[in-house]
Amino acid sequence: MPVAFVAGLSSLIGLFVNTTVALLIQWFCSGTGQKSTADVQRLIDDVILHEDFKAEDLQGVNLARELKKLDTFESSLEDQGWKKGSVKISVPCPKKKVAESKAVEFEIEGLLYRDLTTVIKNACQDEATMDSFHATPFKEMWKPSDNASPIRLYGEAYTSDEMISAYEEVQNIPPHPDYPDAENVVIELAPYSDATLLAQFGTAFLWPVYIYFGNLSKYVRSQPSSHAAHHTAYFPSLPDSFSDWYRETFGIVPSEATITHCKRELIQALWLLILSAPDFVQAYQYGIFICFADQVIRRVFPRFFAYMADYPEKVLLACIWNLGACPCPRCLIKIGYIQGLGTTVDGQRRAKLRTCDRRYKAKIEIARKIIYKNGYVINSKAVNRVIGSESWTPTRSAFVSVLSQFGLNFFSLFVVDLMHEFELGVWKAVLTHLIRILYTQGAEVIAEFDRR
Ligand SMILES: [Zn+2]
Repeated sequence: MPVAFVAGLSSLIGLFVNTTVALLIQWFCSGTGQKSTADVQRLIDDVILHEDFKAEDLQGVNLARELKKLDTFESSLEDQGWKKGSVKISVPCPKKKVAESKAVEFEIEGLLYRDLTTVIKNACQDEATMDSFHATPFKEMWKPSDNASPIRLYGEAYTSDEMISAYEEVQNIPPHPDYPDAENVVIELAPYSDATLLAQFGTAFLWPVYIYFGNLSKYVRSQPSSHAAHHTAYFPSLPDSFSDWYRETFGIVPSEATITHCKRELIQALWLLILSAPDFVQAYQYGIFICFADQVIRRVFPRFFAYMADYPEKVLLACIWNLGACPCPRCLIKIGYIQGLGTTVDGQRRAKLRTCDRRYKAKIEIARKIIYKNGYVINSKAVNRVIGSESWTPTRSAFVSVLSQFGLNFFSLFVVDLMHEFELGVWKAVLTHLIRILYTQGAEVIAEFDRR
């Protein structure tokens, strides 16, 4: 029996450095004895010694009531459609020749994501943004004067030809007998993801995925106060334990190429989890009835219109090599031709778009077979011969797997990111160059530039 049970507190005080330690040790040795030394050490280091810890704040605290708040918080997350899931990725090992379906799997748990249909319902039912939410697209025209002919304006997603044709397409779907009067409408989804470094030191990354709605005016959508960015998921990172697990499983250290491959597989696995939810696939195909904030029931068809991300993330999502032979996620322009930007022939070269046709899917399957079944390394010549000329990586895109059967060309979603790819890239470089030229012309010229 521990000494604290037999000895009273007064006899322990002499034994330890002070009363606080004696009280703690006595508590540690009491009760069911399920407290580990490490747990108590953590209680000391992380809680009691924390700079924000104040003993007086605990005056009159009812622990049971406080814990109940945690339950309510978790169930409110569930009400907002948040889910916790896990995914398994098939891990290849060079020279271990085994079909992909029989390859060893690595499981990643605790993925946080939201049900897409709940996200869509929330957006359609948001009373705060209702006045700026357009379920029906239209052409916006401007007449500069009475005599002038009208000019078409382009400024919003819901005035684009893209959305108008998507809207016209769903008009062909016959009404549902349950709601024969409900208008068929398209809800434009535009996912946005950005790897954000949360902690200033340490390795804590948070990589959130948001969904914006093209039906909402950009003037409202872009205001942080409108809360129009719908938080949808967190991209997981490959756990640090992966390398140890790989070494234990295969007896070798994973190569850089294998780790990169598994990271790509993981991102696609999360998207697959979100997109392949039966509710969402059903909604995509047959529509979902939603009573909007204006109390009108509409039959909503979700469609993806753009995927907003910076270049490294586009590369990851489009399953292509970073700055490979064909570096563009949208088209098949060769890297050597990029310098022709702005020329007539450049436009022609970019017209050859990436498509998720049968030929593309077959190539990816062959490449994966070479890796898993034939035991080649990911970046081997054998794999490169099949997919290298168009810079594909041997990854199955979740968007292609779930939505290409309904006519979505996933690669067309990667629209130009004006801030990252033009303003911070081309334009900033040109401006810096021009300013350097100005500096050679003397201080007066610089002053004139500043004045302008
Ligand atoms: Zn391109």
